[in-house]
Amino acid sequence: MKIQENIPLAPLTTLQVGGAARYFAAAASEDDVREAAQFAKTKHLPLFILGGGSNLVVADSGWPGLVLKIAIGGVTSQREEGTVTFDVGAGVDWDDFVAQSVAAGCAGAECLSGIPGSVGGTPVQNVGAYGQEVSDAIESVRALDLKQDRVVALPNKDCGFAYRTSIFNTTHCGRYIILRVSYRLKKDGAPSLKYADLKKHFSTWSTPPALSDVREAVRQIRRSKGMLIVPGDGDSRSAGSFFKNPVLSDTQFQDLRRRAEVRGLEIPSYPALAAQHKVSAAWLVEHSGFSKGYAVGPARISSKHALALVNSGQASAADMVRLKEQLQNKVQENWGIMLDPEPVFVGF
Ligand SMILES: Cc1cc2nc3c(=O)[nH]c(=O)nc-3n(C[C@H](O)[C@H](O)[C@H](O)COP(=O)(O)OP(=O)(O)OC[C@H]3O[C@@H](n4cnc5c(N)ncnc54)[C@H](O)[C@@H]3O)c2cc1C
Repeated sequence: MKIQENIPLAPLTTLQVGGAARYFAAAASEDDVREAAQFAKTKHLPLFILGGGSNLVVADSGWPGLVLKIAIGGVTSQREEGTVTFDVGAGVDWDDFVAQSVAAGCAGAECLSGIPGSVGGTPVQNVGAYGQEVSDAIESVRALDLKQDRVVALPNKDCGFAYRTSIFNTTHCGRYIILRVSYRLKKDGAPSLKYADLKKHFSTWSTPPALSDVREAVRQIRRSKGMLIVPGDGDSRSAGSFFKNPVLSDTQFQDLRRRAEVRGLEIPSYPALAAQHKVSAAWLVEHSGFSKGYAVGPARISSKHALALVNSGQASAADMVRLKEQLQNKVQENWGIMLDPEPVFVGF
């Protein structure tokens, strides 16, 4: 495996900001991953694992250690009674895998169509959209445990999945390098149509949509919101949603409602957990004086979605952070809520 030096990271991310990696390697096999981890350990270098680069803000100073790009491929499948279990290399493109599963007539990932990034990136923040989360489909995660220096198979229940979190980005952040992920999908299952936008899309259909129809609809809806990477669409030069939807306690929610009432507004909300309320971060941003397209220099809010922060072309990481902080401060000032960023900040 070739270890390169001073490799620019911006072109390897969807937001396209940030500096270079001091060392860089791409691992196409588990042996490569072990070799790279050993290299970093021996040289006392901080190690960063790179997937598809679609959820990252890389600092302008870059990464002082080794960036290891996971490029492990391969998809195998095993059919059981009513289900198919796919064992997928962490470096496989997520949307390519979704396309493959839909073509095989398997339900469970169709609403996650069009999400950029790698298979190995999906368990990290428990990727979700349009009423589905990968945690509903993940059977197990095969990973190199850097603490114990051995490969382990983590069953779903040990991954600590919740809204946009898992052990991989919280309690055990930096401990595991994900090598493969197993997804159990329903053979000939019906597509999931929980989300309002999707229901609306099919409201005039007289026959139930097939999995492939739902995949296409999700991609269309995502495209209209700049949430599909489309070459030439400047609005997709982003890291997706820049903030998580805040999940509030009852007391916090009542406080928010009071603040809204004073302004003659109603908070759009839906129950996330039994006694909690998930509030739209986009709504908070838009009701704090920001509109789509708002710009601070070369960093701006997408013209299609208030939650995506976009690099107009020449933005630095510092520009993106300046815009992020402006939005956070105003939302805090107006609504008493500190928005939590969704992307991972690398090298800050
Ligand atoms: C246009 C757009 C739309 C998006 N829409 C959605 C959406 O609808 N829902 C959603 O949940 N997300 C969405 N995202 C965010 C992003 O696509 C997902 O979080 C994706 O799963 C990130 O995967 P990645 O391979 O690109 O990871 P990266 O961005 O490369 O890395 C993200 C984190 O995962 C870690 N990581 C990656 N691979 C591995 C591995 N093999 N082992 C260990 N750690 C690893 C990295 O170290 C880092 O901490 C969107 C992003 C964009 C740009």
